[in-house]
Formats: sequence, structure tokens, C-alpha cells
Amino acid sequence: MLSYQHLYHAGNLADLHKHALLAMMLSYLTAKDKPLSYLETHAGRGLYDLNAPEAIRTGEAAVGITRALAEGWLPATHPLTQALNAVRHQYGPTAYPGSPLIAAHFLRPGDRAHLAELHPAEGAALEQAMFGTGAQIHGQDGFAMANAICPPTPRRGLLLIDPSYEIKTDYAAVPRFVGQIARKWNVGVIALWYPILVDARHRAMTEALTTAHPQALVSEVSFPPARAGHGMIGSGMFILNAPWGTEAEAERLAQRFATL
Ligand code: SAM
Repeated sequence: MLSYQHLYHAGNLADLHKHALLAMMLSYLTAKDKPLSYLETHAGRGLYDLNAPEAIRTGEAAVGITRALAEGWLPATHPLTQALNAVRHQYGPTAYPGSPLIAAHFLRPGDRAHLAELHPAEGAALEQAMFGTGAQIHGQDGFAMANAICPPTPRRGLLLIDPSYEIKTDYAAVPRFVGQIARKWNVGVIALWYPILVDARHRAMTEALTTAHPQALVSEVSFPPARAGHGMIGSGMFILNAPWGTEAEAERLAQRFATL
């Protein structure tokens, strides 16, 4: 039974890292007049309210996106700022877009989106958030969905893999899965998010990934734990076929996070 709910963590420092890179990549990919596919294995509910009691209780967004905006981490021209502004214009000043809505901001009519979300309530909320965007919602295991669809049509595109790592076997399954997808879809941008943990539980996974794919871009940032004793002390993105500009953005973010 899945119990993870991203509403507690939406807009936190890990989201900021992941979503800034995602928006930058999608902005670049959609600047070219060629259709693309956007796939997500773990989509979440797509739209969050940072004023919800769950978000307020953890306070993670307050020291994440809210502080970053106040401190000018994201210029007005940044693709994440643009997606965020569009979502807030539609849903109000405390709305925060999950990765599916960030993607929807950039996708054009000829593009295709496939989003997997296994949790029924999160899936229902995702359906609502994505209504009218043309995205296909799959209420199934995201790894199975991506394996069935890849290589997608259109062949250009990006796959975001953002597990909640609730199931400990995710750490072992991810390198195998990334290898399978990369073999089937060698032109696809494959972006994996992972937590950087005090107990270094993620390390065997990242070592397996970088050994198998030495050309990948690895962006890691550190931050103080959200609460005393909290195990996550940073955020990582492993990206195959990273579009132009992603590495520069990763460096810019690393410098910002280093100030925390
Ligand atoms: N990608 C989202 C974003 O950045 O806005 C956040 C996703 S959240 C970290 C992970 C989501 O994956 C949860 O909503 C959870 O219900 C869902 N999930 C967990 N296991 C899954 C699986 N095997 N397939 C699809 N979704 C899954």
C-alpha cells in the first residue's frame, strides 16, 4: 500500500532542484519546431496548494520555493518562473505546479504526454489537474508504462523518473530500468531524481548508474535536513542526453544551494 503523498513535500528544496532542471530542459526541447513525447513514471497529483495544512505542517515549501523566490534564486526569465507564474495566474498565489503541470506549460498541441500514477487518489487529482491538456494518465506502475511505450512516438522527448523510493527495491530496480530504456530509446532524454541520504543508501544505485553510463550529467546539491533527524540532506538528478544548457543550470543551482 502506497502511503507517500507529495503534498507534504511539494515546493521543497528537492522539488526546486528537480523542477528548475526539468523546466530548463523542456524549454530548450520545445524551442525547436519538432514534436516530442513527455513521459513520467511517477507523476504525483500535478497541482499543489502550499497553503494546505499538510504543506504548512512540514514547512518544507517555506524554506524551499518560497524562500528561493524571495531571495531571487530564479530570474523572471527562468522557465520555472514562467511555468509557476502561469499556474499561479490560473490557480492563485499559493499554487505550486508538480512536474506534469510544469511540462504542460511547455508542451504544444503536437506533443504527447504519458503520465503514470499508481495511487488512486493522487491519480484522480492528476486527472483533474491535467484536464484539457491532452495528457494521457495511466493508473499503473510507471516502470511498466515506460517500458511498454518506449521508444515513444514522437521519438524526440524526455522521460522523468521520480520514484518516492517507498519501496526499498526501487534502488536496485532503477539502474536496470534506466539501462533497458536507454537501449530501446537511445535518443531520449532520461532524467532520474534521487534523494541524497545521510545513510548513503542511494550510493550503490548512483554508482551502478554512472558506471553503466559514464557520459551522463549528474547534478547533486546539498541542503540542511528539513527537520532534526530527517534523513534527506540533498537532491540528485542523473540525466542521459541532457539538452544544451542543462549543465550550466546545474552549476548555477549548485552555487546557490552551496549558500544554504
Ligand atoms: N513527479 C512529481 C513532481 O515532481 O511533481 C512527484 C511525484 S512523487 C515524488 C511520487 C509519486 O509516485 C507518488 O504520487 C506515488 O503515489 C507515485 N508512485 C509510487 N509508486 C509508483 C509506481 N510504481 N508507479 C507509478 N506511480 C507510483
